[in-house]
Amino acid sequence: MGERMIIVGGGVSGLAAGIFAQINGYETAIFEKNNVPGGLCTGWERQGYTVEGCIHWLLGTQPDSAFFRAWKAVGVDLIDAYPFEEFYHLEDGDTRLVWYSNLERLEDELLVHAPEDAVRVKQMLADARTFATLDMPIDQPRDLFGWKEGLQALWSMRSFVRPMRKYQARTVEEYCSRFQNTWLRRLLTRFIPGEYSMLALLATLAALHNGDVGFPKGGALQLAADMATRYEAVGGQLHLGQPVESIVIEADRAVGVKLQDGTTVPADSVVASVDANHLFRHLLADEHTPAGMDRNFRHLDTFTSCQVSFGVNADLRSEPHTLYLRLPQPVNLAGLENKNMNFRHYCYDSDLQPPGKSLVISTIFADYVHWEALAQDSAAYQAAKEQLATITQEQLEKRFPQVSGRVEMVDVATPLTYQRYTNVWHGSYMGWTIGPKEEPVQLPWQHPDLSGLYMVGQWFDSMSGLPGSMLTGRYLIQRLCRREDRPFIVDPGTA
Ligand SMILES: Cc1cc2nc3c(=O)[nH]c(=O)nc-3n(C[C@H](O)[C@H](O)[C@H](O)COP(=O)(O)OP(=O)(O)OC[C@H]3O[C@@H](n4cnc5c(N)ncnc54)[C@H](O)[C@@H]3O)c2cc1C
Repeated sequence: MGERMIIVGGGVSGLAAGIFAQINGYETAIFEKNNVPGGLCTGWERQGYTVEGCIHWLLGTQPDSAFFRAWKAVGVDLIDAYPFEEFYHLEDGDTRLVWYSNLERLEDELLVHAPEDAVRVKQMLADARTFATLDMPIDQPRDLFGWKEGLQALWSMRSFVRPMRKYQARTVEEYCSRFQNTWLRRLLTRFIPGEYSMLALLATLAALHNGDVGFPKGGALQLAADMATRYEAVGGQLHLGQPVESIVIEADRAVGVKLQDGTTVPADSVVASVDANHLFRHLLADEHTPAGMDRNFRHLDTFTSCQVSFGVNADLRSEPHTLYLRLPQPVNLAGLENKNMNFRHYCYDSDLQPPGKSLVISTIFADYVHWEALAQDSAAYQAAKEQLATITQEQLEKRFPQVSGRVEMVDVATPLTYQRYTNVWHGSYMGWTIGPKEEPVQLPWQHPDLSGLYMVGQWFDSMSGLPGSMLTGRYLIQRLCRREDRPFIVDPGTA
């Protein structure tokens, strides 16, 4: 019998850990508090629409890419994903700028709008083209590289060293502030926090150019369901609707979990794939919180937003799928002043809305503390949600008059919605926002004081989002296999 491993949480990181643990000889069970797997990778049914609760865009849609292979290994085949030829449109009155995925088209577009920045635009896009030729070495974590693999990686990356040095230490805001053209600055800084490393922007430009960015057919719910199917197909036991109350520690070792219904389930090791704050403040005693954690939670910003979704009895497929709109006047929305609004429709995916209709979603950055205070009074919280929906709908109808009088479904999710659903700190959907100027806050993959307790998920790696979270699950099992001096198996068919 293999080592018994319990995984707390059935989000993408927990499911990935479970899949690879099963394939590599562990006997695992996942305990997930919700009745559907996926955690933040989620969606919900409303009046015939499937509200996409997660994915704006996903990395890994190009069949030759490392991320495509990594998704396939956990049961997610992105061959039918919708590829983004345009990342988004930016509009201000009559002016419109398109972020084309293809770098040649993007260069033409940018030079028309910002000829004064021609030299810098050409240089940035030339460097992005160089990045586009790099096949990211994601198959295993860096700490497992031996000297030979390290040298190979260095050699294959030799032409990237110069652009990497140039961009790594600069924030997006610093770099983009050198562009004279306001439009250009706005286009490049809409989707990525200004304090992020410029490398993130370059990597996105490169991935878009390679056709490696798109939307998976069926959205987040389908992606999570595919991973759960894969997990059960390799023998894993998925227990849904089973919240864990605490992780059982004996003699500085994790020996199982106590469920909220009072049952104790023994194990040889435990993988926490839950939110870091929930883990250290609720599932473990305070004394087991690693040094530095409190500082992170007190000082680092998070990705926190509200989502307003509409079901519209009109077909918007001829409109840009993602639109950033500059508002003539800033509006106070979700506790913050907003100069822009965004709208995404999902008409390209017939699974998400009935024929001839459109699911339209607006994401609005939010102040968690604002919503937390409102929630003390349920009437005030409800009224704030309604006001948010009303203002957003006004802007939607102004920009798309064909929608007027045809909105048949409205749904509002706040940071508290995500927190209630997954226990995630401040409703943050990608962990902390950490740029090159921040102290590194990498959390360990194994608990520093407790043996047999491992940690995966969006708070435990610097590569964020769905691919980064999924890879933490894979990397954990690779590290354990290495520690036990046995080969890591990706596909049971090749074992
Ligand atoms: C609105 C939004 C938009 C996003 N957009 C994108 C995007 O466009 N592209 C992209 O790549 N990523 C995106 N992300 C980020 C991505 O979804 C997350 O980074 C990723 O899903 C995190 O996975 P995880 O496994 O680390 O954590 P989670 O999904 O939080 O998984 C933790 C799991 O543990 C469960 N759990 C918690 N406490 C307990 C307990 N006590 N007992 C049992 N189970 C418990 C939770 O219910 C959850 O299922 C977005 C996320 C959101 C919310």
